[in-house]
Amino acid sequence: MSAQNELEFKGYAMTDPSAWSTLSVTSFQPKTFGPDDVEIAITHCGVCGSDLHTLTGGWGQSHLPLVVGHEIVGKVTRVGANVKSLKAGDRAGVGAQVGSCLECRACNDNYENYCPKMIHTYNHEYADGVITQGGYATGIRVHERFVFPIPDAVESRHAASMLCAGVTVYSPLKEYGAGPGKKVGVIGIGGLGHYAILFAKAMGAEVYAFTRGTAKAEDAKKMGADHCIDTTVDGYWKGLGMTFDILISTVDKFPAGVSIREFLGMLYVHGKFISVGLPDVDQPLPAIHPFDVMNNGSLVGGSHIGSKEDMLEMLALAAEKGVKPWIQELPMKDAGKALEGVQAGKVRYRYVLQQDIAPVA
Ligand SMILES: [Zn+2]
Ligand SMILES: [Zn+2]
Repeated sequence: MSAQNELEFKGYAMTDPSAWSTLSVTSFQPKTFGPDDVEIAITHCGVCGSDLHTLTGGWGQSHLPLVVGHEIVGKVTRVGANVKSLKAGDRAGVGAQVGSCLECRACNDNYENYCPKMIHTYNHEYADGVITQGGYATGIRVHERFVFPIPDAVESRHAASMLCAGVTVYSPLKEYGAGPGKKVGVIGIGGLGHYAILFAKAMGAEVYAFTRGTAKAEDAKKMGADHCIDTTVDGYWKGLGMTFDILISTVDKFPAGVSIREFLGMLYVHGKFISVGLPDVDQPLPAIHPFDVMNNGSLVGGSHIGSKEDMLEMLALAAEKGVKPWIQELPMKDAGKALEGVQAGKVRYRYVLQQDIAPVA
């Protein structure tokens, strides 16, 4: 093994799940560098709800110590012999996926984000047993397929959170035809929802923002929403029957007693209700009745992050249309504070951490 393969990265790691927001600088060994790999010195990492669910144990137990973070941007420091799309010095990003089998039907159809053998960016395991570690760290090594060049027109701090939150809504918007003449409803205006408004508008759709209360209505309009609907108002759905081509639900957890049946009734014929929120394992979607999807032939579905194709298109659209997320920047040492802000619903609308462990050349 060469000296470079023994390189250690450092990251802000959880070592004790009972103190999940206390992250301390810990060294770890990255995956063995292969000929298809790209090594990145991380400059920025967004803070995703997934980081919170993972650290707090909502999705099961974690490998310890654990570094989370999967909205990663940095500078390429090294590429393997087979790598063609990137070179040292380029800006590049990594999202929530770092591996797949690369040979199944899904992988061959550019749906590698649905590969049954997908490998998550952190708290997952490579075939050789190495545990994946995320982006609250100095560096990462990833197969080229899961590394994305960042266009010059998109700043690193803006690109970071696009790589999970952005693509998670961009992918279903694209798949289900958001564009001119289409009506898109966005349910829940948080990190994902704010991106759904930005990208649906950039794609040319008419956008409705659904929020509980009016606190975020002004923001949603500034993001580009054409209409804002307060879902705490009785009968808010009246007059909107058979309206939407796509409803993107970014709701992480529907409050007790809240129904999604009214949303299904607002879909146009064959309209799609797509859930991209991912609650803890014990929190299912509210129940629906077959009548709710029969009257308009509507469909209820889900979507999971995005493919490389989706990523490259999204970044190109962001560059072309000047899409800029609403972010709050913090030094990486404040990751715990940021995570607590996400948990408390205080974030407007995404935290992005800046590298502070290692100077990046
Ligand atoms: Zn994420
Ligand atoms: Zn596959």
